[in-house]
Amino acid sequence: MIVLEQLKSYAKTDRIALVNRGERLSYKELDAQSDAFAAWLLETFREDRSPVVICGDKETSFLPCIYGALKAGRAYVPIDSVVPENRAAQIVADVKPKAVVDFTGRNFDCKVRILQQADLKRIFSSPGTVSPESWITENDPAYILFTSGSTGRPKGVPITAGNLDAFCRGILPFYLEESGTVLHQVSYSFDVSGCAVYAGISRGMTLFTVDHAMAANLQECFAALEKSELTLWVSTPSFAELCVQSERFHQTLLPRLRQFLFCGEVLTHTLCDALSKRFPAAKTLNTYGPTEATVLVTAAEITGEMGQGSRSVPIGRAIDGVTLRLEQDGKEVMADGQTGELLILGPTVGPGYFGRPDLTEKSFFIDRKTGLRGYRTGDLCYQKDGLFYYCGRADNQLKLNGYRIELEDIEANLQKLPNIQRAAVAPVRDGDGKVRYLAAFLLLQEPDGLTPLKRSVALKKQAAEFLPPYMIPRKLLIVDAFPLNVNGKIDKKALAARLEGTP
Ligand code: AMP
Repeated sequence: MIVLEQLKSYAKTDRIALVNRGERLSYKELDAQSDAFAAWLLETFREDRSPVVICGDKETSFLPCIYGALKAGRAYVPIDSVVPENRAAQIVADVKPKAVVDFTGRNFDCKVRILQQADLKRIFSSPGTVSPESWITENDPAYILFTSGSTGRPKGVPITAGNLDAFCRGILPFYLEESGTVLHQVSYSFDVSGCAVYAGISRGMTLFTVDHAMAANLQECFAALEKSELTLWVSTPSFAELCVQSERFHQTLLPRLRQFLFCGEVLTHTLCDALSKRFPAAKTLNTYGPTEATVLVTAAEITGEMGQGSRSVPIGRAIDGVTLRLEQDGKEVMADGQTGELLILGPTVGPGYFGRPDLTEKSFFIDRKTGLRGYRTGDLCYQKDGLFYYCGRADNQLKLNGYRIELEDIEANLQKLPNIQRAAVAPVRDGDGKVRYLAAFLLLQEPDGLTPLKRSVALKKQAAEFLPPYMIPRKLLIVDAFPLNVNGKIDKKALAARLEGTP
């Protein structure tokens, strides 16, 4: 695996792999701690290669645990600290790990070995070496990421070592320099973090962490970034939009910054324009990709007039090794400007959904023409002058502040709450189509006699037991009946329209 080999070679240098709230972890320490963790896993669980679950935010030991799992031939399953206990328990029940590394102090009601910070300290302090023969190999899963699933239960997406190698080969030519410092703000449970965790480490870069608390307090975040010597910014456009609201977010804050890399959601002209004014020395790279095809599969440096006249900037061209195709009604779309569903083919396409052959069969395929493995994205795109443009989804999946959400996931979880007969969740969008917030429309089993404010507070508290904060609708409204569209389905557009123009 490229990244494990690269880690070994950088471990011979004095480079720093991670800076987390002032704490520094060198490549030597990352290599030694991950070896020690791998040796412990191999000795404790021997032939049993069950995945290792890691729950947390951006703790310094998170990274050695990831690399330790890979060196011991195991996949890891990251669960973000914002995921509520019930949802984390569902993931653990599906994955059946033997060990859970927990930085959050949760209760895992199952028979697994729980490792907390003190246990890791002990493990890291007993040196161990692990032969590369124990490392994960091409077809082994490296990680399983759980994304929002339409049944109300998170859906697991395994990605192999071979997929990750293909991703690194495809994106690294866009990285402007070896070494340097990369922003590590994206959660480990969102694969865009791979731009730092895999590509960054493969290039000997320093990962500069911004955890949830820092991201929520921009003054604190900027004070830390000022000392970061950041050269590469990786985030969703939403996080950069939040930063741009402050005048401090300017080249004087990050004088060494050479590149923005965006992924995960629509990148608007407005943000690109603002960044080119504030950071004239930095280039902007837009990239696109679904978790199922390993982090990202397209890239383009956004320049000047690119994409003027279209709603957002282009998502770019296929990275090296990836083939893209547009299809409509089973036929390939060839003409410029004609919209079709984007199909991804090649070595970054993962093996399918974890334990869900039914879902895998629907979206993954082997291409008859080329023999390549393919994935139907559900994303509608068109091509113009050799560049792909994104123009929305063919289903109910959406992005809110960079988070991938299936509306049915929220509805299924709201319907678990007492006195809720039926729930319909609709996105409320702004003028350029970006989702501003979610609204839930609820049919009660019987009147509850509560004021709207009291009801909303109570329901949000109950929903937080099942859903992470970013999936809890901002507005919860009671309806007597649902409007239906011509197909007899709940008319979500009509529901969302009731909120247009409201703050
Ligand atoms: P995720 O699996 O969380 O990475 O989400 C993948 C989905 O995010 C894609 O299928 C798209 O719908 C959306 N997405 C990712 N990157 C972009 C982008 N650059 N522009 C527009 N949508 C994007």
